[in-house]
Amino acid sequence: MTSAVPGRPEHIVVVGASTAGHAAAERLRESGFTGQLTIVGQERHHPYNRTPLSKQLLTGQYQAKDLALHAYTPLQATWRLGCRVLGLDTTRRVITLDGAEEIGYDGLVIATGVHPRVLPGTPMHHPRVHLLRSLEDAFEIDQALGHSTSRVLVIGGGFIGCELASTCRARGLDVTVIDASATLLTRALGHELGAVVGDVHRDAGVRLHLGTGVSGWDESGRVLKVQLEDGEVLTGDTAVVGIGTVPRVEWLTSSGLDVTDGVLADATCHAVGATDVVVAGDVARWPNPLFGPTPRRVEHWINAIEMGQAAADSLLAGAEAARPFTPVPRFWSEQHGVKIQSVGMPTLGSHVRVLEGSAQSRQLIASYTEPEPGTHGPGQPERLMGLVALDNAARLLDYAPLVGSMIATDPSVPNLTTPAHTA
Ligand code: NAP
Repeated sequence: MTSAVPGRPEHIVVVGASTAGHAAAERLRESGFTGQLTIVGQERHHPYNRTPLSKQLLTGQYQAKDLALHAYTPLQATWRLGCRVLGLDTTRRVITLDGAEEIGYDGLVIATGVHPRVLPGTPMHHPRVHLLRSLEDAFEIDQALGHSTSRVLVIGGGFIGCELASTCRARGLDVTVIDASATLLTRALGHELGAVVGDVHRDAGVRLHLGTGVSGWDESGRVLKVQLEDGEVLTGDTAVVGIGTVPRVEWLTSSGLDVTDGVLADATCHAVGATDVVVAGDVARWPNPLFGPTPRRVEHWINAIEMGQAAADSLLAGAEAARPFTPVPRFWSEQHGVKIQSVGMPTLGSHVRVLEGSAQSRQLIASYTEPEPGTHGPGQPERLMGLVALDNAARLLDYAPLVGSMIATDPSVPNLTTPAHTA
């Protein structure tokens, strides 16, 4: 098999066999790339969807076989699964695998994702202390929850922590969430909506210990003991830690690429400093022109797919002709039966307003805006940075096209920090 178009790469290597890498590989074939395609992944599984790991896989709605990602265009790839990549030489255009094997490329897709962050002092060796990233992690947690007779302790009130708490309640388990922040899902939703999500969890019987981190562990006895910074000690028979992620860039430290908080890419997904390398998914830090010049990482499943596709397009187009990747990021979550959906980059907006519904009803649409530079005062135009819906999917669709545009703010629309909020 050879590439028919002169100037196009003949051998593309995709490092990372998860959502972004899979989407890139599929797009390459859809776009008529007929050269050699090699996909390298550290996990021994073919690509699978991670989003049900904290939800449907643990509630029994899905089985592992339901998570497989399918390509609608045959990938005709050489799969190197269970292989760890140790290095990249962009001058010689080779990656090095564990065991010193080298694979040459003339186009490279970096899609190595992230791994879970571990707080120093956490007894990760303990059989009842878990992280959640892979299918194997989810199987272990499933077993642990099946044997739980007291309380499950969830450290971290982000996506993993909140979805897991919801899953625990669905399985009839007592669960406590501990988060250093004063509200849940703060990084994704900000404090105002994070507080409403906290109410949803309290309504469902989840105990919350917020605004306090973990200062120590005692795993010597029959139960796990977690010491909090505020002096309280919580006990449980299972702990799951979900305190954020670290980009998987350890294999790139000698590559010359900028790997400060992920691999720095330009707006077209090309790695800065390497015209034949593109980056996609959670590991990529790039400037989305829709939200200004600051490069950021976006760790959402939909972004992994769209950026994988965009990176493939850019690689085939070449650095000169490639177009910027300017998505409106989106994510969803479901917790205790409440659907949470987000469009745009809400937390870039400093002003949160309820456009419809209310915090009390747990059904609302909120806008996140930022004053247009140079404008001040009530009624002045603001830029809509993002929207969040709680149990209001249909109406969110009506507002979504406005993200990134300017809107005239109506002073009569309630601010979420006014009495509407109940936390
Ligand atoms: P996350 O969403 O970034 O949340 C981590 C949480 O842990 C934050 O609230 C953080 O608080 C808190 N935290 C940090 N250090 C702590 C400490 N020492 N003690 C207590 N709390 C601490 O990360 P995650 O929940 O681990 O999720 C991992 C990745 O999976 C993320 O990229 C997420 O996007 C993805 N994921 C997404 C979905 C979805 O889209 N539905 C579902 C599951 C997983 P601060 O913010 O104050 O640091």
